[in-house]
Amino acid sequence: KLYNQVQEAKGNIRVFCRCRPLSKPEVIAKCSLVVDFDAAKDGELGILNSGSTKKTFKFDRVYSPKDDQVDVFADAAPVVISVLDGYNVCIFAYGQTGTGKTFTMEGTEVNRGVNYRTLEELFRIANERSETYAYNISVSVLEVYNEQIRDLLATETSKKLEIKQASEGSHHIPGIVEAKVENTNEVWKVLQAGSSARAVGSNNVNEHSSRSHCMLCIMVRAKNLISGECTKSKLWLVDLAGSERLAKTDVQGERLKEAQNINRSLSALGDVISALANKSSHIPYRNSKLTHLLQDSLGGDSKTLMFVQISPSDQDLSETLSSLNFATRVR
Ligand code: ADP
Ligand code: MG
Repeated sequence: KLYNQVQEAKGNIRVFCRCRPLSKPEVIAKCSLVVDFDAAKDGELGILNSGSTKKTFKFDRVYSPKDDQVDVFADAAPVVISVLDGYNVCIFAYGQTGTGKTFTMEGTEVNRGVNYRTLEELFRIANERSETYAYNISVSVLEVYNEQIRDLLATETSKKLEIKQASEGSHHIPGIVEAKVENTNEVWKVLQAGSSARAVGSNNVNEHSSRSHCMLCIMVRAKNLISGECTKSKLWLVDLAGSERLAKTDVQGERLKEAQNINRSLSALGDVISALANKSSHIPYRNSKLTHLLQDSLGGDSKTLMFVQISPSDQDLSETLSSLNFATRVR
């Protein structure tokens, strides 16, 4: 049966589902596949539940392990480009740790992800339009961990950042580093600097990054050279903390606090996006630092794209279903 009905043009929220390949250890352990991509072209993902029953989830796009970074970016490009036309945009990667959130957003040196490709595309189009528009592009890189915001481009790493309300509902973070970037080489350097700063002060980088949200903000200032009109817009690219629930036995002390903060911010995000999708009169932005930071880029005429990342393995089935259900809620 059709589990969540998609209406193609429902507001400005799109949900893409991406499944990673089986990992080497999963192949060796002979894990079986629970995913069915027969109707992936129509945006349908089948989940095989203990052999016989099949549930179908509907998305704007479904990517199987055969789809590469170029295929994925081709569909995301129209959304990211709209920042050059003055729209605010948010792109998220949601899912269990190990499902490819960082692969989709950051990618690797040889398989660059959405973050780098976005900036590359923005420069390309800005250049094409250079007779009509003067664009100024800068980036900030933040991390939200335990409801605290850290500037990953700041030289003084201990500095705590706060969100301040500016006029007209817009927000800003006093003291945040905005690195002006003029070409893709500079972008790669800034992204690398942000990544390595993430590691500072944590004894296990992978564990730390799975418990914090990594947020890249691209600010675009545009001047129309003919009319003189100036616009300012923002594009957020967010690699969210892992959505998995920890085993009860693991959850004590510092770990418990981390888990509660992750739960709180991911459910706050789900609440905000579903309130927007349902055209609710109250949008609860203030329930987490994550949603508060994104307030002026979620809702209104902003565009939102969520990647729901999943594993193909039977061992991850319950987390996979929980991610797919989260995605259903925000549609
Ligand atoms: P997450 O950030 O969600 O914890 P990662 O992005 O670190 O997950 O991915 C886990 C592993 O799987 C990495 O080694 C990554 O390179 C690999 N991987 C994820 N998605 C894909 C994909 N679509 N194709 C090939 N490898 C992938
Ligand atoms: Mg990651």
